Amino acid sequence: MGKRRKTRQKNQRRKWLKFGLVLAVLTLLTVFRDHLPRELTDALSEYASGAFQEGSGLEVHYLDVGQGDCTLILCDGHAMLIDAGDNDKGTAVQSYLESQGVTELDYVIGTHPDADHIGGLDVILYKFDCQTVLMPDFEKDTRTYDDVIQTMKQKRYENTSPRTGETFELGSAVFTIVAPNGEYGDNANDYSIGILLQHGGNRFLFTGDAEEASEADMLENGMDLKADVFKAAHHGSRTANTEEFLNAVDPDYMVISCGQDNSYGHPHAEVMNRLRIMGISVFRTDEQGTIVAHSDGTEITFNMLPDESWKAGEPTN
Ligand SMILES: [Zn+2]
Repeated sequence: MGKRRKTRQKNQRRKWLKFGLVLAVLTLLTVFRDHLPRELTDALSEYASGAFQEGSGLEVHYLDVGQGDCTLILCDGHAMLIDAGDNDKGTAVQSYLESQGVTELDYVIGTHPDADHIGGLDVILYKFDCQTVLMPDFEKDTRTYDDVIQTMKQKRYENTSPRTGETFELGSAVFTIVAPNGEYGDNANDYSIGILLQHGGNRFLFTGDAEEASEADMLENGMDLKADVFKAAHHGSRTANTEEFLNAVDPDYMVISCGQDNSYGHPHAEVMNRLRIMGISVFRTDEQGTIVAHSDGTEITFNMLPDESWKAGEPTN
């Protein structure tokens, strides 16, 4: 008994010592953050997100939701969400938004009706007040899609299908609709809403799961697609991210959102080779977790260094 109590006391002492140490390090980091290398200060900013105040820049959070997509964008106290991961990710996304101080969303985009994009969206639409909900003019006969539509009805949200070229303001940032541009039969992916987000001189491109046909139409439309950061289309699939499209976007960075050891083999080897040859720096959620980019209008910084593995997925189906 006595021995056990001693061990317990020892463990408690150790716990307090650890806690004190962490507290001391955090205090030191906060005091000396101006003198720290950028990677460290960026890691710190993850814990004290500043993008929720006027004039503090733009933050793009590429959430790790396994195989799926979810991006949170914060700018000058305004917030928007593009997709919300699969059905089992809704509450995790909700917690993440709350941890960033989000109480309402200016915009919610459901890029297209596939479950790995709108699965968690019903939870978000229900829990947060959403001013504008954007979804493409394409329906899907699934329980997942129906859940989203029912929640929209319940909260009396209107579903807006935006037109290409339409622009929307998010604080000091502006985003323009770049896709979809045509009819794609029953290919839900090609109906993905694509947006180009501009903050000062910095540009971020998101095209959901848009594949070759939609990429070709975006090019044909003649819009300026040049972007500093491009979120790889369709989780880095070879059915998208064509050479012609990448040449037009000409990004410095790409972020791939995909699940560890996913059955599709995303990101595909062809795409990884293409990106490596083009000298594009790659971040990926399967190996690095949630990735945060910050824009001050002239410079973009990330909360981590790019991934160096260049590892392609291996399809198992
Ligand atoms: Zn997808």
